[in-house]
Amino acid sequence: MYKDDFMTRCSAGLISLLTVLLCLAHTVSAQPPPARISRGNDLSLMAREPFRIFDNLYFVGIGEVGSYVIQTSDGLILIDTLWDLPGYTDYLLGNIRKVGLDPMDIEYVLILQGHRDHFGGAAALQERIDARFGTAEEDRKLMVEAFGEYAPRIDFIIEDGDTLNLGDTTLHLQVTPGHTPGTTSLRFPVYDAGMAYQAYFHGGPSVRSDDPAVIEHYIADLERIKRIPDIEVQIGGHYDSYLSGTGDLFDRAARLAARQPGELHPWVQPEEFQAFLDERIAIARAALQKAP
Ligand SMILES: [Zn+2]
Repeated sequence: MYKDDFMTRCSAGLISLLTVLLCLAHTVSAQPPPARISRGNDLSLMAREPFRIFDNLYFVGIGEVGSYVIQTSDGLILIDTLWDLPGYTDYLLGNIRKVGLDPMDIEYVLILQGHRDHFGGAAALQERIDARFGTAEEDRKLMVEAFGEYAPRIDFIIEDGDTLNLGDTTLHLQVTPGHTPGTTSLRFPVYDAGMAYQAYFHGGPSVRSDDPAVIEHYIADLERIKRIPDIEVQIGGHYDSYLSGTGDLFDRAARLAARQPGELHPWVQPEEFQAFLDERIAIARAALQKAP
């Protein structure tokens, strides 16, 4: 009797232990693989003070990768959501508050590429803010491939030529594949003491494919961007997404902070943007010659 009871309890214990282990295994395998901590995403090294670049544009990212807020007359638009590592959601929300904005005013979140440093934080952010998240279809698929059921909710799909209107602001969206199959880029107005400029933000200006058709498409898009008149400002996804030799995001930020009255805004550099596109085209053409 005692033995039977013992056996019953033992097997019941074993079954519940197995159940717990199976559940754990299921949870662990269904979650996205933990991101590798590197110098570029270690928040203790990469945290940066957020800052205002233009009257309506704020940098709220880390040292390596950007996240930006566009302020409109009717709420905020967040561009990219950083990593899914511990501390990142609080860091991003904290940076938005530090520049004097309320994360609860975010109406839209645009994810420019389906790489983890740009979309990783989106799912956790969705538990904290009530906003509509958008990305291009091909990169929505990348996120699902990488994160499965833990991929962020996508409320709307961005298509080439779409516009997004919020209050007084219109964003012109382009799908510019090459870095990822659904890299999104945008054109929007920025204001410096009320003076308007057109800014262009290429969501992934380095091509990540050796398929000649993809590289050709990427070059054709850069040429299409070159033909857009009056782009005077370039916004970069990473700290160094600028023309070689012109200083990175933080060099520009230092110049902006030290700017004297009457000096031009360090981000207002129309020739640099054209030269940047030429440089990217030349690099891609060279890659094309080496392609099989
Ligand atoms: Zn990327």
